[in-house]
Amino acid sequence: MQLSRFPRLHFAHLPTPLEPMERLSKHLGGPNLWIKRDDCTGLSTGGNKTRKLEFLVADALEKGADTIITQGATQTNHGRQTAAIAAKLGLECHILLEDRTGRTDRDYCYNGNILLDQLHGAHLSEYPGGTDMNAKMEELSAQLQGQGKKPYVIPGGGSNEVGSLGYVSAALEILSQAEAKNLRIDHVVHATGSAGTQAGLVTGFAGTNSQVPVLGIGVRVPQETQENNVYNLVKRILGHLDLPTDLIPREAVVANCNYVGDGYGEPTEGMVEAIKLLAEYEGILLDPVYSGKGMAGLIDLIRQGHFKKGENVVFIHTGGNAGLFSYLETFSLPDYRAQTRAQTGS
Ligand SMILES: *Cc1c(COP(=O)(O)O)cnc(C)c1O
Repeated sequence: MQLSRFPRLHFAHLPTPLEPMERLSKHLGGPNLWIKRDDCTGLSTGGNKTRKLEFLVADALEKGADTIITQGATQTNHGRQTAAIAAKLGLECHILLEDRTGRTDRDYCYNGNILLDQLHGAHLSEYPGGTDMNAKMEELSAQLQGQGKKPYVIPGGGSNEVGSLGYVSAALEILSQAEAKNLRIDHVVHATGSAGTQAGLVTGFAGTNSQVPVLGIGVRVPQETQENNVYNLVKRILGHLDLPTDLIPREAVVANCNYVGDGYGEPTEGMVEAIKLLAEYEGILLDPVYSGKGMAGLIDLIRQGHFKKGENVVFIHTGGNAGLFSYLETFSLPDYRAQTRAQTGS
């Protein structure tokens, strides 16, 4: 797997740290927990899409693009990271936003990732939930071509065989860090959505016979759909790497989709608990849509005894904490000002 034969730009802050979570591990009393800090990839508050964009944007430039089009949910982290790299490279950027939650409050519609998208100068447009977003991107692409522009369309989450190379590379990075630390990794756990992160990791870990199993915690669709999405992408990545597309067995793709709650982007109690625990025990900020639910799944599985004491579990922090600022109401935090006034009687 010589990834350097594929076009790639280097703007992510790599390698991201792989750190022990000692206080959280002790508090939960289960396996030794580690965290891979892909929230620290550097681009506009970081996140997992930055690794994919190194390959995607290199491909776009090689094809002569001057404009990037992509899509996601209103608070898409992928859109925000795309807007940032487009700004840095002087590319025009269009982000098509699908309203998957129906929320109309100011924080959700204008704060968090949306604030950052607009600061980076991206063009935003909004579509109702259930819209065929790929068709809308193609329509916009044709329209911009008509104006003499050279658009490059990046699929939602950057999850195709090009973008996913970022996570094949991340798997190799994790293996080399583990070797340097003399760390035997028994499990890797992370939040899985548009499938590119998990597909890349599985390809990197299974394709090198590292014996590191990956568990994706789903945030949107049911388990079978999610696993099939990931596995189909694994086969496309293998083809792109000129490896046999049946190199990796279907069983290597495992997702647990029991922690979605009421739907994509809808808060759950487990997510709120996970975000508070990581903030209070490790000083680390997760996000409400992905890493918070991923960690909620990991915590619940630890409580169910799914992992053995002494095992080493690496949670991949895929970023997204800019989204916290669109979920203020979800955390029902005490009103410190009202408390102060009550105490001082003023
Ligand atoms: C996109 C995203 C994920 C999911 O990654 P996929 O490659 O889409 O499966 C997880 N966490 C965060 C914070 C994300 O933005």
